[in-house]
Amino acid sequence: MTQTVTVTGMVLSSAPIGEFDRRIVLLTKEKGKISAFAKGARRPTSHLLGIVNPFSFGEFTLYEGRSSYNLMQGKITNYFTELREDVEAAYYGFYFMEFAGYYAKEYTDETESLKLLYQSLRALLNPHLSNRLIRYIFELKLITVHGEGPQVFSCLGCQKQEGTFAFCARRGGILCENCRKGEPDAIPLDNSTLYTLQYIVASPVEKLYTFVVSDEVLKRLGKILKRYRDVYVDQKFKSLEMLELVADMKD
Ligand SMILES: [Zn+2]
Repeated sequence: MTQTVTVTGMVLSSAPIGEFDRRIVLLTKEKGKISAFAKGARRPTSHLLGIVNPFSFGEFTLYEGRSSYNLMQGKITNYFTELREDVEAAYYGFYFMEFAGYYAKEYTDETESLKLLYQSLRALLNPHLSNRLIRYIFELKLITVHGEGPQVFSCLGCQKQEGTFAFCARRGGILCENCRKGEPDAIPLDNSTLYTLQYIVASPVEKLYTFVVSDEVLKRLGKILKRYRDVYVDQKFKSLEMLELVADMKD
């Protein structure tokens, strides 16, 4: 039994196979993360040529074979070509795609992470937003849409909602002055950083890239996200190492 299906998604990665073919990994709304074989996609005359590039977003028609998908055609609505002209932004983009791919599996519902990925790549093209802020927003939101976001609205120890808090990655959220005793590594939070965390966790994806923060808050967010990733994400991303070389930044 074989059949043709059309899915909406984005090419996360693309690898050459044999002499003329490619294997691509797609993040799709309908089928989660899948890989597909693109026969002849490296021939200069192939109708699949641009379609199989990373970042290509649109509709993909696949032939569902016995053991794998075969890409038949694609209708790309955004190639994100501008990303390729900005090396640093492109590396951020590759990191976002690798991170999104880490959580996604076949048949998981990736509607939210696909939307997040798309909006985050668009944000990288906005000259008014810092790439580092986009990165921290993307990281926190991606972890949150996969159910592992931190508790940032009340103290994990006593449920208190008012007062001064610190962020404890190990416990997975915020602790009040009283409850943070015994957690010397907790990162003290100012109001702006706390509000930023709350906004990212609670806002719909469409509203995420609508604000800027001070350098101070940006630095603190970087520290918080690094600790949080260390606890919740058990994978080193190659693209992140590359990004940190290119962007000359360590958090
Ligand atoms: Zn407390």
